[in-house]
Amino acid sequence: MTTEETVRADLKERVDALLTTHDPATTDQLVFLRAQFDAGLAWVHFPEGLGGLGLPRAHQTYVNELLAAAGAPDNDPRRIGIGLGMAAPTILAFGTDEQKRRFLRPLWTGEEVWCQLFSEPGAGSDLAAVGTRAVRDGDTWVVNGQKVWTSSAHKARWAILLARTDPDVPKHAGMSYFICDMTDPGVEVRPLRQITGEAEFNEVFLSDARIPDAHRLGEEGEGWKVANATLMNERVAIGGNAAQREVSMIGFVANAWRTRPELRRPEAHDQLTSLWVEAEVARLSGKRLRQKLAAGEPGPEGSGMKLTFARLTQQITGFELQLLGEEGLRYADWTMTRPDIVDFTGRDAGYRYLRAKGNSIEGGTSEILRNIIAERVLKLPAEPRADKDIAWKDIPR
Ligand SMILES: Cc1cc2nc3c(=O)[nH]c(=O)nc-3n(C[C@H](O)[C@H](O)[C@H](O)COP(=O)(O)OP(=O)(O)OC[C@H]3O[C@@H](n4cnc5c(N)ncnc54)[C@H](O)[C@@H]3O)c2cc1C
Repeated sequence: MTTEETVRADLKERVDALLTTHDPATTDQLVFLRAQFDAGLAWVHFPEGLGGLGLPRAHQTYVNELLAAAGAPDNDPRRIGIGLGMAAPTILAFGTDEQKRRFLRPLWTGEEVWCQLFSEPGAGSDLAAVGTRAVRDGDTWVVNGQKVWTSSAHKARWAILLARTDPDVPKHAGMSYFICDMTDPGVEVRPLRQITGEAEFNEVFLSDARIPDAHRLGEEGEGWKVANATLMNERVAIGGNAAQREVSMIGFVANAWRTRPELRRPEAHDQLTSLWVEAEVARLSGKRLRQKLAAGEPGPEGSGMKLTFARLTQQITGFELQLLGEEGLRYADWTMTRPDIVDFTGRDAGYRYLRAKGNSIEGGTSEILRNIIAERVLKLPAEPRADKDIAWKDIPR
């Protein structure tokens, strides 16, 4: 047997053992997910004891296929996307053993939802400008400030938080990265209604919120380094999803075209074909990106994927409205809701169109991603950064 075959045979054995002791038909979902984690079958690329087996990431697809075929429950990555896509890889890379043991298991099972307290009214694209202050008080940090656009904060048990710990040094050098307890009395979450009518995200006010130093991730003053690891992973999580052909946005349009001849027009056919081809290119590039990821760290290529994803979803959802005509303009419900997940697939074309507008903003705007590609991939000259060597407190604002 080749090494590949040996690994797959071993994984099959492990999955079979899990299914024997935990029949998905009769086992409580949470009990099953915990057992899957303990068997190292949650994310096989994580170390043993932390839900993985230290294998290349690509093997998880095989495990997932075996489990899905047996009717095993899903931990619903969409609902817990920030935990899985952003917090987990950051904790794995920068966390202490104690932090890894405490946080990763309930994160993966979805028992504890995570959110990301990065953006502020004056620090979005320029994230290194964050002004939320964390001041040390013995073994704890006292945090004051305001965050904004915090997806899922209303459901979150924990947050990854970027805060300023030293205003006397240049902006990139004076930040630290924390795990914030969202149940702390100093944390207030207020809904923000968005263009779809829903309130997926929030403003978060931190007033003397307390964080033990044991919940700092990475060294004091090195928050920017840690945040960068999160952002690289975020772009892959948003833009590099493992998609089957036509499962994403293009599937709705292609399906409408196939099943509803009355919608067909020659010029629309050309548009549909070119969008379909682009969606295929994106799907295959995403596959290649994940292979690269399996081999090492996420790189700036993730920015390219996220940029493509945003552009395509907006083009496709716009085309879908044109194709459907008046029907596409009807909007089902403007009642403010606080959804569990961003549900592109379970909703109508109008929702998809409006929600896709946020794709070129969330996780870094398309303009900023182009800057990253220009500088880090194409090696073009960097943007002038006038505030580079100035202490954060002295930057004019
Ligand atoms: C649906 C959604 C969910 C989100 N969820 C979260 C979350 O959970 N946690 C979180 O922390 N944040 C979240 N965000 C915030 C998001 O990361 C920020 O909105 C984003 O980084 C842009 O920051 P900003 O809104 O402050 O815009 P600004 O930075 O003010 O930018 C405004 C415009 O100026 C452009 N611009 C700015 N600087 C440059 C430059 N140097 N070159 C060229 N153009 C430039 C931008 O591209 C943009 O078009 C979310 C946003 C959305 C839409």
